[in-house]
Amino acid sequence: MEKRAEKIRVVLVPLPLQGHITPIMQLGKALNLKGFSITVAQGECNQVSSSQHLSGFQFVTIPETVPVSQYERRPVEFVMKLNKTSEASFKDCIAQLLLQQGSDIACIIYDELMYFCGATAKEFNLPSIIFSTTTATHKFCCSVLSKLNSKKFLIDMQDPEVQDKEVENLHPLRYKDLPTSGMGPLEPYFELLREIIKKRTASAVIINTTSCLENSSLSWLQQELGIPVYPLGPLHILSSVKSSLLKEDKNCIEWLNKQKPKSVIYVSFGSLALMETKDVLEMVCGLFNSNQPFLLVIRPGSILGSEWIESLPEEVSKMVSKRGYIVKWAPQIEVLGHPALGGFWSHCGWNSTLESIVEGVPMICMPFIGEQKLNAKYIESVWRVGIKLEGEMERGGVERAVKRLIVDEESEGLRERAHVLREKLKASVRSGGSSYNALDELVKMLNFVHY
Ligand code: UDP
Repeated sequence: MEKRAEKIRVVLVPLPLQGHITPIMQLGKALNLKGFSITVAQGECNQVSSSQHLSGFQFVTIPETVPVSQYERRPVEFVMKLNKTSEASFKDCIAQLLLQQGSDIACIIYDELMYFCGATAKEFNLPSIIFSTTTATHKFCCSVLSKLNSKKFLIDMQDPEVQDKEVENLHPLRYKDLPTSGMGPLEPYFELLREIIKKRTASAVIINTTSCLENSSLSWLQQELGIPVYPLGPLHILSSVKSSLLKEDKNCIEWLNKQKPKSVIYVSFGSLALMETKDVLEMVCGLFNSNQPFLLVIRPGSILGSEWIESLPEEVSKMVSKRGYIVKWAPQIEVLGHPALGGFWSHCGWNSTLESIVEGVPMICMPFIGEQKLNAKYIESVWRVGIKLEGEMERGGVERAVKRLIVDEESEGLRERAHVLREKLKASVRSGGSSYNALDELVKMLNFVHY
């Protein structure tokens, strides 16, 4: 059967952001290992370089005109514009691919936020599958929000009783945990959610999660959509692939090699979060005062008004040179798997969350926007492998959080639970595990729709 699959092509369409590119490339590699040829159709910004990849991968460009930098401030507007501007050129792109000799397309798999792809697939009579880079619980919340009136919701949410009300069928989530922060004005956001649901014509959904993390939300999703749902996560253990848009600084591994086991706090807020200079100063002071060694990722441009770290006062470099190390971009999975790692202070992006759980590393959770808040809630209250850091960034709070995570008695329980969860996740991708089986089912489906 796998021999037959060798000639079958799958087209992948990522959203051009790191946290979306990485898992869809991992999916591509997993399918490639099962014998499929992969075509990645990507926009002009944030392109994954073809040199990083394997044979069996082809890259084509969808010309579009929305600068990715717009996402940081106006995520909803960015996604809507991208969908409007890309549709026509994507159609041309598929038409060209179909003309190429031997380019038999079995299916278009597209990031859920690239919903324009659905119409193209329909036009060319090609099967399509949605790829979701967030959790099933996030989908549940989006479905709840899409049914609400934004004006009424805003008024209702001023009432503390409404804020603390549990969302039906979503224990322990309360209305105040719903993923609305950082998404801009609510009406366009709710409209986007409705648009995504309306344009859903795909015949299946692939999702980077696994049943041991959120079984009941996955059952809900399956029932709600009425089409097959394939939870394949964590994809990065199923198939690793190099897809970093920024250059990884491997020197930090040498620094980690010199640190004591389980002592280092690794701090990274992903590819999009922005911070103010005063908050970074408080953060570094707190890390330094905790007495634990710290590895800090500061992305170029992530401190507002500064190219990199030049806006930070002199005392920061003194503290870093005594007990810390700063990089612009880390080889995160390698860092999380290093024996010196004691904890991960994260923004709780879904990829970072999965990567941390897979390495059994407990977390300090400081969500910035959207579904990160949900992930943080689950990390702290459901899986109980992390603690939340809330309120203003302040050195005393940071110091206490690091000590709770790495030094205090509480840290043992966190580590133990993280270890147990890690084993469950690893089992899910091993032969006979739920994600392993879901991948087999997906491969069967792709072969079936093709022949
Ligand atoms: N990442 C990395 N090096 C860094 C920081 C992040 O390789 O210094 C990777 C991380 O491993 C993850 C991705 O960038 O795969 C970030 O995705 P996530 O969903 O956690 O957050 P986002 O960037 O979408 O907010």
